[in-house]
Amino acid sequence: MAKKQFKAESKRLLEMMINSIYSKREVFLRELISNASDAIDKLYYKVLTDESLSFDKDSYYIKITANKENRMLTITDTGIGMTKEELENNLGVIAKSGSLAFKNENEIKDGHAIIGQFGVGFYAAFMVADVVTVVSKALGSDEAYKWESKGADGYTIAPTSKDTVGTEITLTIKENTEDESYDEYLEEYQLKSIIKKYSDFIRYPIKMDVTESKPKEGTEGEYEQVVEEKTINSMVPIWKKNKNELTDEDYEKFYNEKHYGFDKPLKHVHISVDGTIRYNAILYIPEKTPYDFYSKEYEKGLELYSNGVLIMNKCADLVPDYFSFVKGLVDSEDLSLNISREMLQHDRQLKLIAKNINKKIKSELQAMLKNEREKYDEFYKSFGRQLKYGVYSDFGSNKDVLQDLLMFYSSKEKKMVTLDEYVSRMPEDQKYIYYATGESHARIEKLPQTELVAEKGYEILYFTDDIDEFAIRMLMTYKEKEFKSVSSGDLGIEQEDNKENTEQETNENKELFDYMKELLTGKVKDVRVSKRLRTHPVCLATEGEVTIEMEKILAAMPD
Ligand code: ADP
Ligand code: MG
Repeated sequence: MAKKQFKAESKRLLEMMINSIYSKREVFLRELISNASDAIDKLYYKVLTDESLSFDKDSYYIKITANKENRMLTITDTGIGMTKEELENNLGVIAKSGSLAFKNENEIKDGHAIIGQFGVGFYAAFMVADVVTVVSKALGSDEAYKWESKGADGYTIAPTSKDTVGTEITLTIKENTEDESYDEYLEEYQLKSIIKKYSDFIRYPIKMDVTESKPKEGTEGEYEQVVEEKTINSMVPIWKKNKNELTDEDYEKFYNEKHYGFDKPLKHVHISVDGTIRYNAILYIPEKTPYDFYSKEYEKGLELYSNGVLIMNKCADLVPDYFSFVKGLVDSEDLSLNISREMLQHDRQLKLIAKNINKKIKSELQAMLKNEREKYDEFYKSFGRQLKYGVYSDFGSNKDVLQDLLMFYSSKEKKMVTLDEYVSRMPEDQKYIYYATGESHARIEKLPQTELVAEKGYEILYFTDDIDEFAIRMLMTYKEKEFKSVSSGDLGIEQEDNKENTEQETNENKELFDYMKELLTGKVKDVRVSKRLRTHPVCLATEGEVTIEMEKILAAMPD
């Protein structure tokens, strides 16, 4: 049987596509600039493979011109241009990508920066324009053509004249409607910021005529408006530069330019991986806790770039919650993007990158702990709580990653110590890692429960954060040593004969203790003789899994 082709109502299809692919209208400019960059890349490639051509790097650029009076926005490039056939095929056929075909024909695989692949980006122009006019002259051709379309209605092609090879795309920007404004796409300032946001690292200069106030010559204090052609994009991203050429100041400047924070980063990590998946990343560990860090408003995530083009502002999947303070970006050419280029098609590559990044952050923090202790203390002050939450959450599944990074205040050292440091100092007869819970160090120091442990010369960790005890309960042990609250019933210190003694004494005073228990009904479970006290007459102790402090916190939690 003869197979029939599907027919499509192309008018409706185009409308549907234009209005449903992208979440933000402003990306139309990203798409047109990406196409222009691809066109220059293709020309560059042709020059490399054809000796009769030459490429003067300086004469290749993309120019954006806005004309408010007649609502025209023009994107001009000095790329390879399009023949009449190419205009028909590439702009007249939806989902046909001349760029993908070019990559395939020329067997360009790795490392090449051509961005196009889906054959739909161009139509994004219709999100903001009523009419799109493309004038193009292809490399090696004497003729130029003008392609014009009002969107869904179809298009016209006619010969025209153009001096130089390349393409000029003019958008007639839509009039404002009652609820939508399109004026911003004609405003110098807005255009600049859209270019900066999405296309800052396009490898060719994106130029614009920029109006600036400058001191007027021959006058004092008088200013005049001067129009100058300026390159808006930075072109070479810092993460593609060689680490050896960059200083700490460069990284700090980038951190501030990117508005990752107002502080100075405590540490930066520059990663270039060339393995099964290739990516570059710059990560920062901030110095100060962002003001909203411990609130619901805080959004974790890294910026995600594909080939220098911004895909996602905050890709949350790149960092685990316990490292949510990490700022920075990842750029990879190996991501398979979905058609809007705002999301990924497969998260396999992303998962791999996230795994690598996680490892890297951990090892950086460990190195900081080992070699730059003061810095680590600083870091821990800002984000230690997040690490402890990390140990506690997900049923303790992250404890292996995090336990060596934890610190608590030590009764002996009078400063923050790691669990490893604690355990390595433990005398042979000490069975447990002791901790005491309280509001502040001063309050804990006054706890009667600490007396016996302190008298034995054992170190006590002070838990002043709500999360502390919950976190170590998740850990259960560290280097096979169990944690023990100084207020637990059995401290593992009292000698056997001691135990018998206390039992005997308790029995002897049964009457008194029963009376006390009666007085304290509902407040205590038992009243007993204790040998752990030195200067205090009485203390509270717990028997079960949940300590008094934990109970308090649990009771205070919202349901
Ligand atoms: P994609 O970029 O994914 O291929 P587009 O819809 O953005 O899809 O563009 C379709 C095709 O039109 C491109 O593949 C390219 O062949 C051609 N094209 C678009 N803009 C230009 C341009 N400025 N110069 C040369 N060719 C272009
Ligand atoms: Mg494109």
